[in-house]
Amino acid sequence: MKALRLMDWKSSPELVEVADPTPGPGEVVVRIGGAGACHSDLHLMHDFEPGLLPWNPPFTLGHENAGWVHAVGDGVTRVQPGQAVAVYGPWGCGTCARCSLGIENYCENPLDAPVAGGGGGLGLDGGMAEYLLVPDARQVVPLPEGLEPVTAAGLTDAGLTPYHAINRSRHLLTPDATIVAIGVGGLGHVGVQIAKALGAAQVVAVDMKQEALDLAVAVGADHTVMSGESAADEIRALTGGRGADVVVDFVGATPTVELARAVARPMSDVTIVGIGGGDVPFSFFSQGYEVNLATTYWGTRPELVELLTLAARGVVRVEHTVYSLDDAAQAYVDLEAGKVRGRAVVVP
Ligand code: NAD
Ligand code: ZN
Ligand code: ZN
Repeated sequence: MKALRLMDWKSSPELVEVADPTPGPGEVVVRIGGAGACHSDLHLMHDFEPGLLPWNPPFTLGHENAGWVHAVGDGVTRVQPGQAVAVYGPWGCGTCARCSLGIENYCENPLDAPVAGGGGGLGLDGGMAEYLLVPDARQVVPLPEGLEPVTAAGLTDAGLTPYHAINRSRHLLTPDATIVAIGVGGLGHVGVQIAKALGAAQVVAVDMKQEALDLAVAVGADHTVMSGESAADEIRALTGGRGADVVVDFVGATPTVELARAVARPMSDVTIVGIGGGDVPFSFFSQGYEVNLATTYWGTRPELVELLTLAARGVVRVEHTVYSLDDAAQAYVDLEAGKVRGRAVVVP
C-alpha cells in the first residue's frame, strides 16, 4: 500500500510503498476512512530538533484517524470486521493508574507503551495510508449511528484536544463568563463549538486571519477579535472590563500567550494547547491572582466517547476539506499556507 511517511526530522514527507499490516494477537487493522492533517505534523517536519521527542522517524504520518475494522488478531472480541470506528490516538501502557481510567494521554509508564509518549503517526505508523495497525483493540472506539469515518477522523484530535482542554474549566463556564479561544483553525473552530456545548459562557474567538474569524462565527462564536495590539483592550471591553474566565490558546506563540495572560481575570484558567514555541515569564506579578496556567496534551478515551456522542447528535462538527492520499503532501502545504478551512482530511 502507499503511505505518506516522515523519513527524517526537518524534512518533507514522502509518499512511498510499504507492506500492508497484518494484526497480531490483540491487534486490529483499520481500513482508513479519514486521516486528519494536524499542525503538529508541521512542527515534526520543521521545528523539532532530533532528541526532543522520545521517538524518531521514519514512520507514516496521520495521528487523527477513523475507518472500518479490516482484520482482527487472535483474541479480539470487542470489534468485528466491517465496523466503523474512531482510533483513540495516545497509546499508553494500558495498565498504569492513569491508563486504567482511560487517561492514556498521561500514561505513567511510557516505556511500557507501544511507543513512549506517542502513537500511530507519532513514532509509529499512522493513518496516512490505506491501512493502520492499532496495537490494542481497546484503542478503537465504535462510531455511534450517524457518524461517518471521514467526519469522525478530526474528532479524535482536532476535537478531543479542545474537549479535554475546555472540560477542565467547565465549572467556570457560567452564564456571566467569557471564554476566549485564540487561533480558530483545525482545533480552535471545534473548541468554539465545544465551549458553546459545555457551558453558557460567551465565546470570543481570536485569529490573525479573517477567514478563520468568519468560520468561528459560522460555528457559533459570539464575538471575534483580530489579533494585534488592540486585541486585549477589545476582549476586556467585551467582558465589561473584568477580563476572561477561561482562555484557551490554540497557537502557543509568545504574543498569544501574552494576550492570554493579559486578558485573564483573577481566578481564571489559561490553557496552552498550541505548540508555537512561545515563552513568557511566570512570576508573582506576571498575571492576575490565582490565574491557573496549564498546558494540556490530547484527551482521554472516555472524553472521546462523549465527544463522538455530541457529534453524532449534530452539536459539534469538524469542518473539513477532503484530499486523496496522492494529494496528502499538498494538504500539509495548504495547511502551512493557512489555506485550509477547518481541517484537511486525507481519504485514501
Ligand atoms: P491550524 O493551522 O489548523 O490552526 C492554527 C490557527 O491559528 C490558524 O487559524 C491561524 O491563523 C491561527 N494563528 C496563528 N498564529 C496566530 C496568532 N499569532 N494570533 C492569532 N491566531 C493565530 O493548527 P491546528 O492543527 O489547529 O493546531 C494548533 C496548534 O495546536 C499547533 O501548534 C499544534 O501543534 C497544536 N496541537 C496541540 C495538541 C495538544 O495535545 N496540546 C494537539 C493537537 C495540536
Ligand atoms: Zn495533532
Ligand atoms: Zn499507562
